[in-house]
Amino acid sequence: MKDFDLVEIFESLQGEGRNSGRPAVFVRFAGCNLACPWCDTDVNRRFSLSLNDLLDEVSSYRPKSVVLTGGEPTLVQGLPELVAGLKRKGFWVAVETNGTVDSPILGFVDYVSCSPKAEYPDSIAISSADEVRVVASGEDVAAFCKTVREKIAATDYYVSPCDRDGKIDFATAKSVLSQLDGWSLSVQLHKLLGFR
Ligand code: SF4
Repeated sequence: MKDFDLVEIFESLQGEGRNSGRPAVFVRFAGCNLACPWCDTDVNRRFSLSLNDLLDEVSSYRPKSVVLTGGEPTLVQGLPELVAGLKRKGFWVAVETNGTVDSPILGFVDYVSCSPKAEYPDSIAISSADEVRVVASGEDVAAFCKTVREKIAATDYYVSPCDRDGKIDFATAKSVLSQLDGWSLSVQLHKLLGFR
């Protein structure tokens, strides 16, 4: 099997959504199929690991929760084998996806967090998730949120403030939320509190 292309692996607390504050190991895969103009994530490959080495690395941390993120993890070849290996080791496994790939593996993980992007309104391919988070990158995002709610069944729907070059835009998030019912604010705790 091809090695996994990775950006970083680190232990932290989940900073967003329903699992905010949950200790977890974060595995950030390289590569993304979108190019959001405000993206602050470096998705360039920094190193590669085999399946066994990646499982060993994740297991070397204390938390038994792992968040597979990116980039776009559903594009990663070998993701089913990785998820199976993590489940065999007793991990709670979450995937953070932009929702553009309807990957069968999303049905086999413990938690799916989908963050569809208003800049790519026609790219939504999945129909369910545990939580949905939409970045309030502009006032018109409220209309996109309404479309998202029709397309993706989820338990929780969140609006996140947009972060442009370290400036967190709460005002637009608040304005977007005021136009919606059943959506909540998801603050990025790691940015507010200054942890990774
Ligand atoms: S989907 Fe996420 S990682 Fe990909 S470009 Fe958009 S913000 Fe960046």
